Amino acid sequence: MGLLDGKIALIFGVANKHSIGWGIARALHREGATIALSYAMDRLEKRVRPLGESIGCEFMMQADVGKAAEMDAVFEAVAEKYGKLDVLAHSVAFAERDALGGRFVDLRRESLLSAIDISAVSLIELARRAEPLMPAGGSIMSLTYNASRAVVPNYNAMAVAKAALEAITMYLAADLGRGKIRVNAISAGAIKTLSAGGIAGFRDLLKYAEVTAPMKELVSQDDVGDLALFLASDLSRRITGEVIYVDAGHNIMGYTDVEALVNEAE
Ligand code: NAD
Repeated sequence: MGLLDGKIALIFGVANKHSIGWGIARALHREGATIALSYAMDRLEKRVRPLGESIGCEFMMQADVGKAAEMDAVFEAVAEKYGKLDVLAHSVAFAERDALGGRFVDLRRESLLSAIDISAVSLIELARRAEPLMPAGGSIMSLTYNASRAVVPNYNAMAVAKAALEAITMYLAADLGRGKIRVNAISAGAIKTLSAGGIAGFRDLLKYAEVTAPMKELVSQDDVGDLALFLASDLSRRITGEVIYVDAGHNIMGYTDVEALVNEAE
């Protein structure tokens, strides 16, 4: 028996096999969930379809989370095919390249607003559409990063979008709790993916994360998938409105003894 037998999970944000959303899909599928996938644009279909087919996914549909009609169509199709939804995973982020590098003070207003819209406000848009499909309760989750709470050079617009996403998580949790719908955010350590590659200096950030984390290792898609599985299942039944870290402990470090690190490396 799987932890998610009989559950329907809709995941937004699988672009390729490196996507964190794909790690989530695999973990939820492993414990018995039926997986439905939504991807951003038609040209991703050739990558997403074989992945979905490999886990028996019968629902794969394009939707831009900036477009109301496309989101409506996905939720209508889910309602028609499954009649309900138990888990919603938002693994979506977007920022213009100019918003992911350079001086923060020079950030263009349009770039900042589009990053917040697609990466954070879209969670409200998806949650509102999911709610009627979760009459017996459910679990909604999204992906955040600690640049929301401490400065990480170059994250600029995405850092602000993640701060908004974390606040949105609390407010949605407060609204939806009565209906037993839980809303949480997973704060993942740095992982090499398509989106992450757009951040200036990401390679150095990976190296830094590995050497400064208490556990001295990086996080994988599967690590995130297993936390998503916990959040999707009844094991987390009284947890809502939280930001939960899976980062080998990186976020707890306020200071790293650089000299000790150099000595260790020699
Ligand atoms: P990814 O590029 O694989 O996933 C991002 C997804 O967002 C893609 O599938 C992309 O198509 C989708 N997307 C972008 N604009 C969209 C739109 N308008 N409509 C619908 N979908 C859209 O990269 P990822 O690293 O797997 O990112 C997934 C989530 O994890 C993001 O929220 C990201 O910020 C977060 N995250 C990533 C890291 C990391 O280091 N990779 C760390 C912490 C959090």
